[in-house]
Amino acid sequence: MRLARKITEQPGLAPYVAEELVPGRQVESDAEFEASIRRNGVSNLHPVGTCRMGADPAAVCDPRLKVNGIAGLRVVDASVMPSVPAGNTNAPTMHDRRKSRRHDPQTPARLNTRGGGA
Ligand SMILES: Cc1cc2nc3c(=O)[nH]c(=O)nc-3n(C[C@H](O)[C@H](O)[C@H](O)COP(=O)(O)OP(=O)(O)OC[C@H]3O[C@@H](n4cnc5c(N)ncnc54)[C@H](O)[C@@H]3O)c2cc1C
Repeated sequence: MRLARKITEQPGLAPYVAEELVPGRQVESDAEFEASIRRNGVSNLHPVGTCRMGADPAAVCDPRLKVNGIAGLRVVDASVMPSVPAGNTNAPTMHDRRKSRRHDPQTPARLNTRGGGA
């Protein structure tokens, strides 16, 4: 947020900036920035991470996406991502499918993803 503010203050851009809406020019300290992020931050329709992947028995699936305790079932979707990727979720989801297909050729060649149009 500080970098974004710095960029918008550059002489080439500043004339086109009417005002900083969020968090607002009054915000300066780390604590204020954090409070603003907590108040205004949204996942922006990119929910991930509901289906933990890991090597321990408490994880839903193992690092190769096989569901623990259910033979022959894999999870290949955004739910296995540990955190929201920096650049949206549709392409990483398709990437996961490709990786899974490398491990298991029976993974369907096409995913049933809706996508959002990015
Ligand atoms: C409005 C919106 C805009 C978005 N815009 C973008 C964007 O611009 N760029 C981007 O990268 N990402 C975008 N996304 C996110 C992206 O679409 C998702 O992250 C991605 O589709 C996730 O893929 P997925 O396979 O995990 O889930 P989904 O694509 O949701 O696939 C789950 C599938 O499972 C099916 N299903 C559910 N329950 C069952 C059941 N019980 N039995 C059988 N089938 C079932 C559903 O019908 C669905 O087809 C957007 C999402 C939304 C909602």
